[in-house]
Amino acid sequence: MTEENRKISNLEKTARDLLIERGITIQDMAELVYYLQSKYHPDLTMDICEYNVHQVLKKREVQNAIITGIQIDKLAEKKMLEEPLQTTIEIDEGLYGVDEVIALSIVNVYGSIGFTNYGYIDKQKPGILKKLNDKSTGECHTFLDDIVGAIAAAASSRLAHSEVGEEY
Ligand code: MG
Repeated sequence: MTEENRKISNLEKTARDLLIERGITIQDMAELVYYLQSKYHPDLTMDICEYNVHQVLKKREVQNAIITGIQIDKLAEKKMLEEPLQTTIEIDEGLYGVDEVIALSIVNVYGSIGFTNYGYIDKQKPGILKKLNDKSTGECHTFLDDIVGAIAAAASSRLAHSEVGEEY
């Protein structure tokens, strides 16, 4: 069955649609996987990276993290949160760590090797992550940047596990 005609749950569809609505494509996330993994896998292709991102998006924990984080970002953009949370999210306050905690629920799906990847990509902010961190746009991606980084980290972990024959 191809990715296109696979029957997907409402939750998965909602999560995928929200990512698109917020400007994130499968390819954006696959590029982050490639960034993280190409030095360890000389034969790595973008197709393999995309495949692993799709597999991560099938997980309920991941879908729930996406819809929760994006909802909070959207409410913050519309200034609909109560203070002090509204300002905290809007300015992406440094000591607020709940966005990272939600991201860790994604990283967790494929075990501890995802943590290293997540920490690394969160510091480097390659590709789409740099764009999401541009505070001059008026958009709020306080949760989304961590979620996207975490999806890429989880897909990288999945890739590493599948290399040794473990299927998830
Ligand atoms: Mg954040």
